[in-house]
Amino acid sequence: MIRKILIHPDPRLKKVCAALPDISDELRTLADDMLETMYAAPGIGLAAPQLGILDRIIVLDCEKEDAATPKPMVMVNPRIIGSSDDTNVYDEGCLSIPDQYAEVTRPKEVRVEWLDLDGNLQEQDMDGLWATCVQHEIDHLEGKLFIDYLKPLKRQMITRKMQKLKREMARA
Ligand SMILES: [Zn+2]
Repeated sequence: MIRKILIHPDPRLKKVCAALPDISDELRTLADDMLETMYAAPGIGLAAPQLGILDRIIVLDCEKEDAATPKPMVMVNPRIIGSSDDTNVYDEGCLSIPDQYAEVTRPKEVRVEWLDLDGNLQEQDMDGLWATCVQHEIDHLEGKLFIDYLKPLKRQMITRKMQKLKREMARA
C-alpha cells in the first residue's frame, strides 16, 4: 500500500525515533509499504518518520540503472559503526523536500549495522551513492534533514518554498 509522504516543515520530521524492540508482522507490512511508496515516488531511500511513524526503520535501493535488478534493503535500528576520513559530495534531494537539491559532504564509506526482518544482526560496508543514502536515511531517524547541513539562508529559502508548496497542495 502506498502511503502519504510528509512534506517539510512538519514537526514529525524533527523527532528522534524510537528503537524497535523486535520484529513483528506489522513491521514487515510497514517495510513492504515503505518500499512500495519509495519506488512509486520514485526515490532511492525512505525513513519511517517520513510517513509519520516515529520508529527506527529505513528502506533503500540505490541501483539506479533502469536495467539493474532491484536491490531493496530494509534496515531496522540501523547504526553507523565506522566511517572513512575520505569524504564525498553529492547533490542530495529528499522525498519530503520535493524538487530541491543541494550539495552535502559526508564520509565516502561507512560501515552499517542493522537488524533484518528475520531478526538477524547484519553488518556491511557501503560506499558511493549507497553510503550517502544510508547516512541521509539514518539522519531522518534523528530528526535531521539534508538541509540542516546547508547555510541558514539557503535552508530558509528552501523551507519557504516548501511552505508555499504545502499551501498550494492544501488548496488543490
Ligand atoms: Zn530524505
